[in-house]
Amino acid sequence: MERGATDMEDMQMATTLFAVSFRQHDEIAEILASAGAGAGWRAAVANDADGLERRFLASRAAVALIDARGALDDGLSATRRLGGIVATNGAALLVLVSRGDVEAIGEFFDAGATQFLASPASDGELVQALRFAGRYAARASGGTIDRRAIPGASPFDRETGEARRWIVGRIAEESPVTVVLVALSRLDIVNAAHGRPAVDELIEAAVLRAETVARGAIGVDAMVARLGGSEFVLVIEAAGAAVTAAITALDAALARPFAVANTRAVLGCRFGVAQRQPGDDAAALLRRASEALAEAKASDGSVLHVALPDGVAPIDALAIDLHHAIERDEIDLRWQPQVEIASGKITGVEALARWNHRVLGPLGADTLFDAADRADLGIALSDHIQRLVLARAVAWPEALGTLRVSLNLTAADITRPGFGALFLARIDESGFPRGRLTVEITETGLIEDLAAAAALLAELRGAGCRVAIDDFGTGYSSLAYLKSLPLDYVKIDKALVRDIDGSARDRVVVAGAITMARSLGLAVIAEGVERPAQLELLAAGGCSLYQGFLLSEPVGEAALLELMARE
Ligand code: C2E
Ligand code: CA
Ligand code: CA
Repeated sequence: MERGATDMEDMQMATTLFAVSFRQHDEIAEILASAGAGAGWRAAVANDADGLERRFLASRAAVALIDARGALDDGLSATRRLGGIVATNGAALLVLVSRGDVEAIGEFFDAGATQFLASPASDGELVQALRFAGRYAARASGGTIDRRAIPGASPFDRETGEARRWIVGRIAEESPVTVVLVALSRLDIVNAAHGRPAVDELIEAAVLRAETVARGAIGVDAMVARLGGSEFVLVIEAAGAAVTAAITALDAALARPFAVANTRAVLGCRFGVAQRQPGDDAAALLRRASEALAEAKASDGSVLHVALPDGVAPIDALAIDLHHAIERDEIDLRWQPQVEIASGKITGVEALARWNHRVLGPLGADTLFDAADRADLGIALSDHIQRLVLARAVAWPEALGTLRVSLNLTAADITRPGFGALFLARIDESGFPRGRLTVEITETGLIEDLAAAAALLAELRGAGCRVAIDDFGTGYSSLAYLKSLPLDYVKIDKALVRDIDGSARDRVVVAGAITMARSLGLAVIAEGVERPAQLELLAAGGCSLYQGFLLSEPVGEAALLELMARE
């Protein structure tokens, strides 16, 4: 009877095997056949590491088999990628290594392997190993057996077990529980430069920081457990805003450089987040978090994936939302008037983007662009905004029909091959006259590839647009490159303008910048002008245009019409 029950376990839990092999397809098929594909195993085979986590989860396999024979590095990296998932969903991870490589087994266990087999092994041994792995998985996913008792268990099983018990306890108390799985990345760089011990040291240091966050910063009950490989879990007895705060704190803690092997290393990390729902048990919660982490790893830009987004909206969650924001038309524009100082007339406007987030309300441009960077959507967003600006401005009523329109380009736009032609075609398609358009480009955007930038600016100017250099005075601000670029305006940054009516030193800096620009025949626009005293000093210094709260903050079209009517 005993045996019958065990076989039942094998049948239910271990019917699907997920095999990863970096060798020929035929060979793994052979292994599987000899391992007893006929004896109830269904196999999904992966021959490369593309989207490995996702494929493994999709296969719903109870056992992962990684064939690391003759492919030790690939095998180890695949083990690292699946190790955390296996630890949370209770699957088994069997690694096949060549006999000559058995010393590497410690590393595989650290990476999350649960068992291994040295090859060549007989067919019988392989069948046994798979059966054992299947049984292990059945127990581990049930969560009833202390995994320390299982031979070959990863050294982090104890910690994983503690985290599980912690969750089970909170669920029993009906407390809110959030699981944050964290996968560290960019470790391969450290590995290549300083070797395996440095990587271990780094992971330990990262876990230590997470523990500090869990202990101190959050203010709710939390714990951290290593899962093997470069993954660990932060479990939090909270939901909603406290989780947002925790993830933000964790993100910040992990973003700080680490000291390792006498240098500094900056790690990347991805988060998978799941919050307890009614009816969840520990396994379901961990599985959802692990699926979320796989999503976060698979999607190009997003570093955070939330299985349940309720109330979680740090910058990385925003990065995910941004994918939809463009489709849902949540990106909006404000226009900030630019005034000719001599006449007091509004002669143009700068278009500034806003994000009307469906839950969080209006968000500023800095948040929007931060989210875009995280989501790798910088170019898509900038494209969208350019079209939007042109489409809106071309449809303006006559009262606004003489205004110049200033459009901000991003650094990524400028370095994009063929951008000039694309942009000009976009303007012409919209029907907006080229001659009324100014593009604003920051110094940082230009400096990366001065020659390419100069060619682009010349192309745009040649086509009738004007060009302004933005945020002047904050970055490199050297006459040398200012001279080498075809420009129309220099925009003095608001940080320089801010203190101009305070210290004499700031006045000298701004006066110098204005003189520099004018000596090159460029018009100067001051931004961030808030007080009459600032404006007077700027006018006296030879500044020709200004923008700022003194006249108006960025406004919608209706308010812009009113401002024009007042003149
Ligand atoms: P920026 O191009 O230097 O834009 C000026 C920023 O200063 C705007 O912030 C504006 O609202 C703010 N500002 C205007 N007048 C004053 C003032 O008197 N005092 C102070 N303290 N601030 C003032 P905003 O709209 O949050 O934009 C921030 C940055 O985001 C912009 O800096 C620009 O680099 C970027 N950005 C905004 N919209 C777009 C866009 O449509 N496309 C691109 N590529 N970048 C954009
Ligand atoms: Ca600007
Ligand atoms: Ca600026």
